[in-house]
Amino acid sequence: MSDAYRSYIGGEWLAGGDEIAVENPGTGEVFAAVARAGPDEVDRAVAAARTCVADRRLTDMRPSARGRLLVDMARWIRDHEDEIVEVLTLDSGKTLLESRWEVAGGANFLEYYGGLADKIEGSYIPLGAGYIDYVTPVPYGVSAHIVPWNYPFELTCRGIGPALAAGNAVVVKSPELAPLSVTYVARAAEAAGMPRGAVNVMCGYGHDAGEALARHPGIDQITFTGSVETGRKILYAAAESVIPAVVELGGKSAGIVLDDADLDQVTDQTRWGIFSNSGQVCSALARLVVPARLHDEVVDRLVTMAGGLTVGPGIEGTDMGSLISGHQLEQVDRHVRAAGEDGASAAIGGERIDRLGHFYQPTIFPNVTNDMAIARDEVFGPVLSVIPYGGVEEALRIANDSDYGLVAGVFGNDLDQATFLADRLEAGQIFVNEWFQPSIEAPFGGFKRSGFGREKGADAVRGYYQLKNINISRGS
Ligand code: NAD
Repeated sequence: MSDAYRSYIGGEWLAGGDEIAVENPGTGEVFAAVARAGPDEVDRAVAAARTCVADRRLTDMRPSARGRLLVDMARWIRDHEDEIVEVLTLDSGKTLLESRWEVAGGANFLEYYGGLADKIEGSYIPLGAGYIDYVTPVPYGVSAHIVPWNYPFELTCRGIGPALAAGNAVVVKSPELAPLSVTYVARAAEAAGMPRGAVNVMCGYGHDAGEALARHPGIDQITFTGSVETGRKILYAAAESVIPAVVELGGKSAGIVLDDADLDQVTDQTRWGIFSNSGQVCSALARLVVPARLHDEVVDRLVTMAGGLTVGPGIEGTDMGSLISGHQLEQVDRHVRAAGEDGASAAIGGERIDRLGHFYQPTIFPNVTNDMAIARDEVFGPVLSVIPYGGVEEALRIANDSDYGLVAGVFGNDLDQATFLADRLEAGQIFVNEWFQPSIEAPFGGFKRSGFGREKGADAVRGYYQLKNINISRGS
């Protein structure tokens, strides 16, 4: 195992111990190993973080200095961008371009929250001459982060950025699939001179290290991104410990195409909306809801677009990379077969690609109805459902008829209609005419079963501190 892929706990890289083999999903070959943490390493990491909290290593620091540490982490990441991009491409199967966006995105988050560290302010409560009363923001203490494999690097930075800015120590459990890039976050923390125990990073299996971390009595807050099923377990564990949680649990997001939409724009945005990261995106554009009279034309355009995408190992500069694992490939294929049983028929794709690695064809199902499983279940693969509608009220009903509510979108030039829909769509973020607007500054998070709590933007910091009121009687 490369020294670089060890657990980083209490400012040290742990030697020895078990390993997890890391596969390149673009070839199916094992090419690296990462240290496997279990409950013992979780104990050590939480203890190191607790010591950092008890010694007030972050909280007594001037917030602007804490912020500069985050900015220094971002600088180190930018200096090592090419290396991280390559590692991320190899262990996640995504394309080089997507990895570059992700690594830059991670650095952006650390810079953004570094800049916010000295702007987390309290308040003064006027109670007359007899009292001095003020409110201060107090970090929770030890903040746990359980990270999924689809954006491991960026989501780690997205979570720990506001947590550290607010003065918490963090313990990160990286995903057992695509864990390698997250070790660079630890290296960045070390290079920036983060206090010992402020940033702890390890990899381990969910049922083992993940569960041990979520249930650990030494954590004070938890942030989780992943499946609804695991999210529920995290929330049970948080309830047991009575600690706050931020949970982001996926979606089945719909984009409504209006009559006057620019269809070139719809096609281009759908390309990124559903085929980015091979569709393994919680906020993917999974359902395109189109006027019945435009349905065939939209499908024709989408089929042409999808047919032009090159699919293969991301490291070769393809347009679409592999799925994360053989298991995920099975899952996607299972959803596609179920769509067939429901009467849907793919206009393009619908099959695995017969080559080494875990590749699936870009797939589009036209004429889907919203009661079909393919319109309801999160596929987490390159599979789009196109759903025709009659009137705008029906489009809205279809879009909102989902257990999830992460994001939604509208394509069209009639601003009145777009804002009418934006007000009524049940989702935490609404995109008008551009899917995945790349802002780290705007709040992001779910309605309904997509979870709760907000990440990104200044609001995310609110998830990482509590308020303390101090009331001083002047005795007069
Ligand atoms: P998952 O929820 O099982 O894993 C996410 C993270 O949680 C990983 O780090 C994993 O090790 C950890 N984990 C798993 N079980 C745990 C437990 N009992 N206690 C604590 N931590 C645990 O997701 P997955 O298996 O990687 O993917 C399954 C499905 O989840 C996907 O098909 C997709 O639908 C969804 N998913 C959503 C997102 C998202 O961004 N919302 C990301 C990844 C996966």
